[in-house]
Parts: sequence; structure tokens; C-alpha cells
Amino acid sequence: GQLDERLPLSGVPELNRLSASFNRMAASLEGVEARRRELIQDMTHELRTPLTVVRGYLEELADGGIKPTPEIYQRLTKETKRLERLVNDLQELSKAEAGYLPVNIQPMNLRPLLESLVEKFADQLLEDGPVLRLECPLQLPFVLADIDRTEQILVNLLGNAVRYTPTGSIIIRVWTEESKLWIAVIDTGIGIAASDLPHVFERFWRTDTSRDRYSGGTGIGLTISRSLVELQSGQIEVESELGSGSTFRFSLPLA
Ligand code: ADP
Repeated sequence: GQLDERLPLSGVPELNRLSASFNRMAASLEGVEARRRELIQDMTHELRTPLTVVRGYLEELADGGIKPTPEIYQRLTKETKRLERLVNDLQELSKAEAGYLPVNIQPMNLRPLLESLVEKFADQLLEDGPVLRLECPLQLPFVLADIDRTEQILVNLLGNAVRYTPTGSIIIRVWTEESKLWIAVIDTGIGIAASDLPHVFERFWRTDTSRDRYSGGTGIGLTISRSLVELQSGQIEVESELGSGSTFRFSLPLA
């Protein structure tokens, strides 16, 4: 370490340890600062796209270059909503990444939450869309979790499953393994290519297909979900095959 050269006491083990720990702290602060800069850059980029669209339309409307048709207003509303979603997601993301999301961990039974979510999401499914099913033991062991954060994770995973599954099925499967409860959302949707899989939890990352054809996403949901799972001492994993479907599963510690 750098302290070693300057201090004649460098042979003292306590000082060596202190110097090493200072160096580690400095390195970790640099990492935090670099991540903050990166986040701001990514955010700026994501916010600029819808802003440019809105501004372009407004300028053309003002010039009389385009007529104020209902379609133009729909487009403006869509982009504004996207901005709103981005801002909300970004707020959650920055809290989650900074570890500032308060969590209230308590022993709880997950089944009632799963049942109510299945009911809520089943209402959103189109008649010719996928079927939604819950496969969960009637008597579930309690987990140590924050009910609101767990709901947020499930809403993200189910929202994705619905968005990226045109037909077939979406199954929520629950099982225990050693000291964990696993919850999997299994879909028969568009799937994710093997080369894309390592990136799905990165912020703002979206596959090319979902950018082109499935609007509405922000590429932040899975990043937040991963932070929320980790805040509750769980793990999150994905398995997928392009064209046949995806499985996202996460664990929570048993109470
Ligand atoms: P988004 O808001 O775009 O859905 P996410 O972070 O939730 O953002 O997901 C990142 C990307 O991962 C998505 O844009 C999509 O390309 C891909 N993805 C996520 N879930 C699924 C799924 N169930 N099936 C296929 N692709 C998915």
C-alpha cells in the first residue's frame, strides 16, 4: 500500500492492516462513483428518446407542418406515459441500487398473495392469449420476506410473461428446496436467445425483438427485481429458449 512507503512504522502489523483497509475503502468509493456516473448517463439516454419525439411533434404542430389529428395526440400521450413510467422506474432503481429501499421482513404465507395476483392478471389476458395457472401446495411453509417487495417482483415477472407470451400458458410454480422456497414463472412465449441471456438483468437492456415489436417496456423491471430479491436474501435465475419460452425463478428463505 501507499502508506507503507511513507511511514517508518510500516513493519507494524496493525498499520499494515489499516493501510490495506484504507486502500480497499478508496477503491470501493471509486466504484460507487463510477456506477453513479454510468447510471446518470444511461438515464439521460433513455429519457432523451421520448422527449425528442414529443418535442418534434409539438414543433411541427406549432408550424402547421402536421394537423392535430387524434393519432398525433395518441402518440404524444403514449410517449408521455412512457416518460412517466421511466421516471417512476428510475426512482425505484436508484433506491434499490443504493440499498435505500426499506424492507420489512416478516414470516408470511405467500399463497394468498399468489392467488390474488393470478386473479388480477387473469383479467388482463386476452381471450386467445395464454392461460394462467397456479401450481402451489395448499399448505405452504412460511417464508421470511417483505410482502410488498415480493409482490413487486411477481408483478414484474408476470407482467413480462404476459407481455412476451402471445399464446400457450403461463404457470406459477412453487416448491421448497432445502431452506428455500422457490417461485417460478414459466411461460411459453417468445423466449430469449442464449447470447442475450447473460444481459437480461442489466439495466435498460432489452432484446432487439422486444424493442421493435413489444412497446411499453423500459428495460428496468428485471434490474429492480434482482435488487429486491437480493434485499430479501434470495436468488433469481433465468432459463430460456428462443421461440419456446422462458422461466424466471427466485427464492426466499424459509422462516
Ligand atoms: P422491460 O420493461 O423491457 O420488460 P425488463 O427488465 O423487465 O424490461 O426485461 C428486459 C428484457 O428482457 C425485455 O425487454 C425482454 O427483451 C426480455 N424479457 C424479459 N422477460 C421476458 C420473457 N418472459 N420472455 C421473453 N423476453 C423477456
